[in-house]
Amino acid sequence: MYEFNYHQPTSIEDVARLLGADEEAKIVAGGMTLVPTLKFRLAKPSDLIDLAAIPSLRGITDAGDSLVIGAMTRHAEVHRSPVVRQTIPALAALAGMIGDPAVRNRGTIGGSISNNDPAADYPAAVLGLGGTVQTTKRQIAADNFFTGMFETALERTEIVTAVRLPKPQAASYMKFKNPASRYAIVGVFVARSESGVRVAVTGAGPCVFRVPEMEAALARSFTPDAIKDIMIPDTGLNSDIHASAEYRAHLVGVMARRAVTGCG
Ligand SMILES: Cc1cc2nc3c(=O)[nH]c(=O)nc-3n(C[C@H](O)[C@H](O)[C@H](O)COP(=O)(O)OP(=O)(O)OC[C@H]3O[C@@H](n4cnc5c(N)ncnc54)[C@H](O)[C@@H]3O)c2cc1C
Repeated sequence: MYEFNYHQPTSIEDVARLLGADEEAKIVAGGMTLVPTLKFRLAKPSDLIDLAAIPSLRGITDAGDSLVIGAMTRHAEVHRSPVVRQTIPALAALAGMIGDPAVRNRGTIGGSISNNDPAADYPAAVLGLGGTVQTTKRQIAADNFFTGMFETALERTEIVTAVRLPKPQAASYMKFKNPASRYAIVGVFVARSESGVRVAVTGAGPCVFRVPEMEAALARSFTPDAIKDIMIPDTGLNSDIHASAEYRAHLVGVMARRAVTGCG
């Protein structure tokens, strides 16, 4: 690990000021991705700005038709939350499937979506539910937030403060997981609401994506059979020691049908 200055500011204004003061400064949330990156000397930040001492970034609020989850809310808190379990049970289940207990007790929703790992679970939920990412500068619709592999619409000095997730009529997340890390080889989040059906896929490609053909078919008939003949092309999908692109394309169909069944 290279040397860096460590800060633990108590206001979001101070975080923004510190982040703006040096181009090489970085935010740390749960540290579950960033700290190993530092240990391997794959990053050399001048300053680490810890968000842990800002209480307003943490917690889950029931806002009527949606839930607002603070960026520093940990996966274990989302998994255990009675309001999440009652209103978006698929999200509580998803949070409980992330990594292992150590990861769930440190990792945060804000860190996960800002990092936008191609195999992470939360991006599928945020995109599948049609959520909105709240930052220190603006509100970004999920459709515009996840822009590429480990890339988001965030500017360098922009901080995620919360995520707003509309409550669906029904939703389900099905993941074919890597048995070692538990990251998604393929994960599919399906949500049905008054405005239609959304299908979001993680793990299969370089970035989370929607499947419009499945969404249209499910809007007509919300049954696993409605999408049984839809095969997504394997072109551009991830291929590695865990699964080929062709296998991932196949898994998208399987997980999507299971998720529709899971919506009850
Ligand atoms: C062994 C292991 C297994 C895992 N398994 C899974 C899994 O199965 N599924 C899954 O989805 N994830 C998995 N993860 C990832 C984990 O769940 C964390 O969500 C992820 O590491 C990032 O969250 P964090 O809070 O630790 O962020 P950090 O590591 O602290 O930060 C990650 C990045 O996001 C930036 N950042 C953090 N917070 C903000 C913010 N509020 N605004 C702007 N930028 C910010 C940081 O600067 C950094 O670049 C695993 C991790 C490990 C180590």
